[in-house]
Amino acid sequence: LSVVELVTIGTELLLGETVDSNGAWLARRLAVAGIRVARRTSVGDNADAIREAVRDALERTGRVICTGGLGPTDDDMTRPVVARLLGRPLEPDARTLEDVEARFRRRGLVMAERNRAQADVPRGAEVLRNRRGTAPGLLMEDGASRWVVLLPGVPHEMRTIVEEELLPRLEVRLADRRPIRSRTLRTSGIAESTLAERVSDVVRDAAPLTVAFLPSFAGTDIRLTSWGELDADSVDGALDAMERALRDRVGDHVYGLDGTDLAEVVAEELAARDTRLALAESCTGGLLAKRLTDAAGASRFLIGGVVAYSNQVKRELLGVPAHVLEAEGAVSEETARAMAEGARRVLSADAAVAITGIAGPEGGTADKPVGTVWIAAALAERVTARRFLFPGERDEVRQRSAQAALEALLQLLRSEEP
Ligand code: ATP
Repeated sequence: LSVVELVTIGTELLLGETVDSNGAWLARRLAVAGIRVARRTSVGDNADAIREAVRDALERTGRVICTGGLGPTDDDMTRPVVARLLGRPLEPDARTLEDVEARFRRRGLVMAERNRAQADVPRGAEVLRNRRGTAPGLLMEDGASRWVVLLPGVPHEMRTIVEEELLPRLEVRLADRRPIRSRTLRTSGIAESTLAERVSDVVRDAAPLTVAFLPSFAGTDIRLTSWGELDADSVDGALDAMERALRDRVGDHVYGLDGTDLAEVVAEELAARDTRLALAESCTGGLLAKRLTDAAGASRFLIGGVVAYSNQVKRELLGVPAHVLEAEGAVSEETARAMAEGARRVLSADAAVAITGIAGPEGGTADKPVGTVWIAAALAERVTARRFLFPGERDEVRQRSAQAALEALLQLLRSEEP
């Protein structure tokens, strides 16, 4: 029963100029509240398109949340169109008019006559006050358990109204709902297909949970979701059991849950061991340093790094021997190892990571095509190195390189005898 449809309104969405972040945010937020989004539709600022989208969604699902097109300009037509669809005349609402006027007064502005129209409300609609802007949200019942909600398009206004005004009202209307809850296991260093194979029996018996594999440059996420079959008391237990079963199969590749960043895991590991790190980056141009310094507190473990883009820097700052660069090339195992050892030595670090590769689009050869990347990690006297051939364009190769370097370092740290 707790199923809704979303209609996001705005020509900029169809032009691709604005990403529909309202739709994404609403879907996530509603899921947490136990409300499932059955369908998302986007339409332009066009009366016919808005009317049809809302009408169809009402007929299909009976509960519709719209965003956008509530402003004071002529291209903002959501309110009159939906009011007409539901057969309700627009009438001025005294309290809303007061809110709008007060808002203009506070900011020392004169209210334009057309802003007055924003206080016109379809008869019988519940006004969802907008503390952050002028256009209020509206909730309109249309017969038994059918309703339409209109929200402004400005993301922070929309979110505030949802949190403060809409969700408390929906919770009353959808009393029987059960939570929709997800948990994500983040893996790296294992191909999606290998991963899927290793956990196939667990996935087969997952019901009522669903399992999805989501690959990205950061590795493959395994997302478990309970879609409302389980009640609040049993959902966490079911997710726990499933997580344990998956960790039994692929636990060594799981680096965290949900939003965890591999860089944070590496940071914690380094800080806990009191191990100081140096970096030598060629094709990533400092991306690894950025990843490691995104969160505060990096000075606990990071000494710094060298962006060794040219051979001159590899030679003169990192001490990579000229004959190695000449004989093996800048993208080679020997160079990667020498960069890591050099960074560790020159910066007096305990550990170092080096990345050297061909991010493209130019520079590839038959035996070193674009995407070839050598990564070396050094910890005291131990050095490991590995060659990768990453797919994708320049940005993806660089992102994957930084991620693989973090992984190489983590493996080396964890393989150390305690
Ligand atoms: P208001 O009257 O408060 O200005 P509105 O309902 O008229 O709001 P729009 O004019 O449709 O809203 O959009 C306002 C801003 O919000 C624009 O910058 C638009 O790009 C952005 N926006 C609209 N819809 C979305 C959406 N679905 N996702 C992200 N941003 C959006």
